[in-house]
Amino acid sequence: MDKIVILTGAGISAESGLGTFRDEGGLWARHRIEDVATPEGFARNPALVHEFYNARRVQAAQARPNAAHEALSRLERDYGGEVLIVTQNVDGLHEAAGSRNVLHMHGILSGALCAACDHRWPAPDHMAPGQQCPVCGAPAGRPDIVWFGEMPYYMDRIWDELRSADVFAAIGTSGNVYPAAAFVQDADRAGAHTVELNLEPSAVVSDFAETHFGPATRIVPDWVDTLLRRLGM
Ligand SMILES: [Zn+2]
Repeated sequence: MDKIVILTGAGISAESGLGTFRDEGGLWARHRIEDVATPEGFARNPALVHEFYNARRVQAAQARPNAAHEALSRLERDYGGEVLIVTQNVDGLHEAAGSRNVLHMHGILSGALCAACDHRWPAPDHMAPGQQCPVCGAPAGRPDIVWFGEMPYYMDRIWDELRSADVFAAIGTSGNVYPAAAFVQDADRAGAHTVELNLEPSAVVSDFAETHFGPATRIVPDWVDTLLRRLGM
């Protein structure tokens, strides 16, 4: 059976109402990235950073998965082979749609992380400076989010998965953020068929063998239908 690895980015959650730091308006527009999405920003003003992620956590909890998330969940359910989603998104919309095989390479809003001992636990709705770790007791709780300047999670596993992928698809990613922007080259070198699905061509579109452009809620279900037919499902 073919192994399908899918990278998803902000573009798949945009139609569920979750903005990105590139959008005009919304939560990100009122803050500078270096203030709310870097370890240095957190060290300078933890209260501001916690407030920012508390607001994003509420927003993400209210969002609902859309037809694109649901199509990927259907792919995992109806296809007999392996389907892995590697997501840059920190919302839980893939899981809410029913996907089970999901790696959050940039962390997740619903998680808290102890900066002292690396213990992870479900984030309370409201986090504040001095949040105590339930295991080591250090007042070092922070959002379980990979900030700019930090190493994304699961990288060794992701490179392994890309090297053994038969199909690699990137959905709703800008192609501007590394290392994710280089995944297509690794998958291509390993012999995978590569597909970009995006609202507009990404910065690395020329690296893909197959491309589809349009709203994720239209092009992702179409692609999943075609793929399942081709695989004889
Ligand atoms: Zn701890």
